[in-house]
Formats: sequence, C-alpha cells, structure tokens
Amino acid sequence: MRKKIIAGNWKMNKTLDEATVLATEIRSQVMQRGHANLLTILAPPFPYISELAHHCADTDGLALGAQNCHTETQGAFTGEVSAQMIASCGAAFVLVGHSERRLYFQEDAETLRKKINQAYACGLTPIYCIGETWEQRSAGKHVDTVAQQLRESLLHLTPDFFATHPLPILAYEPVWAIGTGNTATTEQAQEMHAFIRNELHQQWNETLAQTTPILYGGSCNASNAADLFACQDIDGGLIGGASLKATDFQHIRQAMLEVLA
Ligand code: PEP
Repeated sequence: MRKKIIAGNWKMNKTLDEATVLATEIRSQVMQRGHANLLTILAPPFPYISELAHHCADTDGLALGAQNCHTETQGAFTGEVSAQMIASCGAAFVLVGHSERRLYFQEDAETLRKKINQAYACGLTPIYCIGETWEQRSAGKHVDTVAQQLRESLLHLTPDFFATHPLPILAYEPVWAIGTGNTATTEQAQEMHAFIRNELHQQWNETLAQTTPILYGGSCNASNAADLFACQDIDGGLIGGASLKATDFQHIRQAMLEVLA
C-alpha cells in the first residue's frame, strides 16, 4: 500500500512559542491516534526546525520538513538556507516548487530541478509541488502545465536513482485553490492525480508510479478531506491554513485514519 501523508505547511506564521505549542499538540495527537501507514509532516519556518526537532524526536509517524532550500550546499548567499543546513537541524523533507515560491520569488523550472537535486544530495526527500493557475485551466492547459512541471524539474531522475534514494512526494496544488476556499472537486483532483501517476508510469515504470505518494493541496479542510482522501489516487494532503490549528489539523488526520481503518 502507498504511504499516506498529511503534511502541514505553516508558511510564514507563528512565533517560536506558538509553533512549539502547536507542534506539541500535534505530537500528542499523533501518539494517541496513528497508523503504521500514515506519516504526518510539519513544515514550520526555518528558525524553528531545530527546536521542534527536539520536541518531535523519536515520535513514530511524525517528521519535519522545511518550506524551501537553496540550490547550493553552502557559500556566499546571504540570507539563504541550504538543504544541508536543514538536514543538520533534524528535518527529513523539503517543499520544492510551492506556487508562492514560483510566483513571488520567480523560481523557474531549472532552479527547481537544482533544488530537487540538492535536496537528495543532502539526504532530504523533496515534496515537489505542481499545479496550474486558473488561467491555464480555463484555457484547457492544466494537464500540459503539470506535465511540463514534472518533465522540467523531476523526470530527469531515472528509475535507477530510486534504487538508492527515497521516492519523492508529489503535491498537486491547483494555484486557484490555494488559500482561496475554492477546493478542487473530487473529480478535478482525481483526474489530475491519475494523470500524474500515469506520467510517472510512462516516464519511469509501473512500480514507481504505484508507490509514489501524490498529495492534494488547496483549501483542503476538515469538511472536504474525507471525500478527497477517498479518491483512488489521492494519498493525503498538503495543508496550509487548516494546519495552523491543532484541532483542524487533527480532523484532517482523522479523515485519513478512517480511510486506513
Ligand atoms: C498550501 O499553501 O500548500 C496550501 C495548500 O494552502 P491552503 O491549504 O491554505 O489552501
């Protein structure tokens, strides 16, 4: 069975004290109600990773991720954070290609390809975010857009690579659904997830396609999570706004626990 994953992207929110309280609450939820096949990932702001790693250490089914990394390992890049630093602080995952990075920080396909390579080189597993804008969907280009994002930044990795590295996590996040309350319908989400899995099949092979987790992101919340997670090719969620309150996040985790029951 594919790994099921609920990941919280905290973006640029919370003070250290607030982040510690939230992580501690989520940790207790994970300890009380977990499943061997469910992984919960928290992606707090960079400055909190090290502290939260101490709070979350040795908790089965709970891991930390960063929201971004630089393309280089180290050097004169004032203000930047490398994948190596993130790994040394105790995180195991890193988001790459979130639409806010693509839009506000002009991260292009080549940059994201380097970030994915860099994440792997430093022992992190990338959570590669892909998804179309509303304009692209309205023009009927959503499938081509996502295919291009896969091809340009991820599919240079070959099946051989995954003999010695963990599979990436993919997050299909339609840009028009992020932070808007306009969640994709289950039909729209499932169609895109099935398409992505088929691309992995075509470019890699059936085994890798069937084992790569593909998360849905975009206004996923307690009221729509169960329907989304019931879809055949949706393996969990990348959650923004609803990951900032422990009770909301727990409802989403609960929806996945029910799928697994
Ligand atoms: C996100 O930013 O990855 C996200 C899915 O945000 P939200 O859940 O708030 O739409």
